[in-house]
Amino acid sequence: MSMNNLLPYGLGNPELVEVQKGYFVDAAIVDDLNKLIEAAREAGFELRLESAYRPFEKQLSIWNRKARGELALLDAEGNPMERPADEEELMYAILTWSALPGASRHHLGTDIDVVDGKACPPGYEVQLTPAECTGMFAKFHEFLDERFGSATSFGFDRVFVPGRGKIRPEGWHIAHLPTSRKRLENFSLATLKSIYRNTDIACKRVLLARLDSLAEDYIYPYFV
Ligand SMILES: [Zn+2]
Repeated sequence: MSMNNLLPYGLGNPELVEVQKGYFVDAAIVDDLNKLIEAAREAGFELRLESAYRPFEKQLSIWNRKARGELALLDAEGNPMERPADEEELMYAILTWSALPGASRHHLGTDIDVVDGKACPPGYEVQLTPAECTGMFAKFHEFLDERFGSATSFGFDRVFVPGRGKIRPEGWHIAHLPTSRKRLENFSLATLKSIYRNTDIACKRVLLARLDSLAEDYIYPYFV
């Protein structure tokens, strides 16, 4: 298989551009992203990235460290929880807050997490929570809502919205949909399974056994 066919899984070498310090996106979305940043600026906001392209290895590292107890495992309310001994329970606990390696939309280079830099108090560390979206970033989200609702967002929209799949809503996560659709055309569960078989990934046995049903809840609902 050519490395280009592995791009949707965060493998291979996508053409990336650093749009803000430390944040890389697919070159194909840069023009539209700059238009959205400019529209935000004109409306009085500073569209700032908090996350962008993330390779497979990075997501795998998050996954494995949570499984080993090296990173905190949080329950649905965001409180630290004990690590389940059962492999399947552990897998679902990790999935509460972390995407499956190889199936994170941050692998695509078309998805970003955004905040209004202007609304951040000095020294404030962004958490990316629903409370921020309805709190300090509420005006910024009203601006985004208005743009998404009137097809004046240059191809960007939210992906993790209420009522879609089992990933909790993430108002801060936006995607350049025309480009992400292209990237996902070649995505297949068979390929993802073969990647897992050849990877040192925690919960491998249950991941492989449950992947088809996991995909119905955590992957395919977000192919929008
Ligand atoms: Zn995100």
